[in-house]
Amino acid sequence: MTGKVLVATGNLGKLVEYGRMMEEGIDVLGSMDFPGMPVPDEDGRTFAENAIKKALSAAEYSGMLTLADDSGLVVDALGGEPGVRTARYGEGQAFDDEQRYLLVLRRLSGVKAQDRTARFVCAMALADRGGLIAVTEGSCEGSIAFAPEGDNGFGYDPIFIPQGYGCSFAQLEDDEKDMISHRRKALIDMLPFVEAALKKGTEGV
Ligand code: IMP
Repeated sequence: MTGKVLVATGNLGKLVEYGRMMEEGIDVLGSMDFPGMPVPDEDGRTFAENAIKKALSAAEYSGMLTLADDSGLVVDALGGEPGVRTARYGEGQAFDDEQRYLLVLRRLSGVKAQDRTARFVCAMALADRGGLIAVTEGSCEGSIAFAPEGDNGFGYDPIFIPQGYGCSFAQLEDDEKDMISHRRKALIDMLPFVEAALKKGTEGV
C-alpha cells in the first residue's frame, strides 16, 4: 500500500509517533506542510467530537485524506480532569505541557498510590473532502506518578505509568510505548479505513 495521509496536528511529538506507527509505504504529512491551515476551536464535549471537527476542517482545507486525533489524560481522583481540556489545563497558570503536568501532580498531592488511577484516551477521525469516513477510539490504563520521570516522548508522558510497568511512558523505548499506547490502539482499528480510502482514491472509484 502506498499513498499520503495528512495528520492534522502541529504537535511534533504526535506526528513522530504517527510516522513510526503508520504502515510502510504510507507517507505522513503534518499541519506544518499546509501553512495557513486554520486550527478549529477544540470546544467539543468529547474527544471524538473534537477529533471529527479537526479532521473535517483540515480535509476541507487540504483536499487530502486526513487523520486527526484528540487525546488526553483522564485522572479519576480529579473527576476525569484534565480530560478534553488536557492541552489547555490550568489556563492562565500553566503555559506548556510541563507546567500542566506539574499542576496535575500538585492537585494530586496527598492522594495515595492506589487512588491515582488514570488513562490516556485517544479518539481518532478520518475524513476527506467528501466528509467523515470513520471514528475509532483507544485507551491505555495506568496511574499518575508522584514525580515526573524520564525524558523520552512528549506531553504528559513523564507522569503516566502504564498498568503493569514500573516506569513512566517517558522512560519507555519508543517501540514499547507504541505497542501499548492509546494512539496505537485507535490507529490499529483505523488502518483498514485508511487503506480502503487510499485504494479508492487510486482506483478513482
Ligand atoms: P490534543 O492535541 O488536543 O489532542 O492535545 C492533547 C493533549 O494531551 C496535549 O497536551 C498532549 O501533549 C497530551 N497528550 C496526548 N497524547 C499524549 C501522549 O501520548 N503522551 C503524553 N501526552 C499526550
